[in-house]
Amino acid sequence: MSEITDETKSPWGILTGIRPAKIATKLLDEGMSDDEVISYFINECGTTYEKASLALEAARALRPIRDDMYRDGVSIYIGIPFCPSRCLYCSFVTNGTKQAAALMPEYIEALKKEIKYTADIISHNGTPVETVYIGGGTPTTLTPRLLEEMIDCLYDNCDLSKMKEFTVEAGRPDTITEEKLKVLKKYNVDRISINPQSMNDSTLKIIGRAHSADDIREAMKMARHCGFDNINMDVIAGLPGEDMEMFKYTLSEVEKLEPEDTTVHTMSIKRSSRLNEYLDEYDLAKGELVAEMVSYARKYLAERGKFPYYMYRQKNQLGNLENVGYSKPGFESLYNLYIMEEIQTIISLGCGGVTKTVDLETNRIERIFNVKEAKDYIERLDEMLHRKDVLRRI
Ligand code: SF4
Repeated sequence: MSEITDETKSPWGILTGIRPAKIATKLLDEGMSDDEVISYFINECGTTYEKASLALEAARALRPIRDDMYRDGVSIYIGIPFCPSRCLYCSFVTNGTKQAAALMPEYIEALKKEIKYTADIISHNGTPVETVYIGGGTPTTLTPRLLEEMIDCLYDNCDLSKMKEFTVEAGRPDTITEEKLKVLKKYNVDRISINPQSMNDSTLKIIGRAHSADDIREAMKMARHCGFDNINMDVIAGLPGEDMEMFKYTLSEVEKLEPEDTTVHTMSIKRSSRLNEYLDEYDLAKGELVAEMVSYARKYLAERGKFPYYMYRQKNQLGNLENVGYSKPGFESLYNLYIMEEIQTIISLGCGGVTKTVDLETNRIERIFNVKEAKDYIERLDEMLHRKDVLRRI
């Protein structure tokens, strides 16, 4: 048995990787029973029972979905690096819409070239596209026209006839309009994300989001009215200034809106975030309190018929905890599972994208990086396209 020292004491014991459920999946694949998997996590890795059962539950959720996955399929990710404002804890390279308004048309032009170039490779390889995920940033910061141009280009160049899931992040309610939702519906987007992070207006202000909890309620109403019946909502445990009551309030207000999928993130202090720069100015919860919050969320969501199906850990998360996606049965996001479990090739387009090719026979994973900044991406587009040539070998 591995030695557990004080430094490694955390709910996840000595596990430092970002994908604990992947270990549980491997153990189940090797023929271990549920009890044996739990024992392995507790005795060999030093995790708590709670975390062992979480990893096991997520691994169990994966299995039927993996059985239905196209083994020769790929998923496509498209990154839109624009947001209406920068969240306190954000480390992504995003461009505020005011400064970036001029950049958006150029960015979409470049993206369309990458879509065409990559679609050609995919069609040459004959690989079916199983899921498409447009994330960011906040894709709905684009104007309806640019949104339509981009998705239209995807349909024009890519065979999406076998696509099983099409997600678009509409994370900020202040970017959502009925016109944009109608564009998404027109192109068969069947899953969207509307992310409150907190339903406490005072916290939303602290974290730099220029919207209120009521804006979230309105956006959800609009999305339901437009026919979206698979909606994810993200919340964060451990936001600055939040105590247990505030977190419970967020969860109960979110669940009143009945999203099919709720993702519970644990606050993480990212190196290039404003939060990290001004850390002393913020009142962050202690690890034990955040641990209570995430335990509470798991029980609360289970009572509402939602179960953990994917999870990952990040560096510097309060209490060394994790992020967990909970969904009602049948609403698990295929894309999230494929990317987190690394069981399908994900082709990423746009700046900041990391394409990951997965060879299921050898378990070999290769990565192809796009540059992070939108301007660089536009200027160095030819280079980005040629980097995609590696995919011709697949
Ligand atoms: S919405 Fe997401 S990508 Fe945009 S600033 Fe906030 S954390 Fe960053």
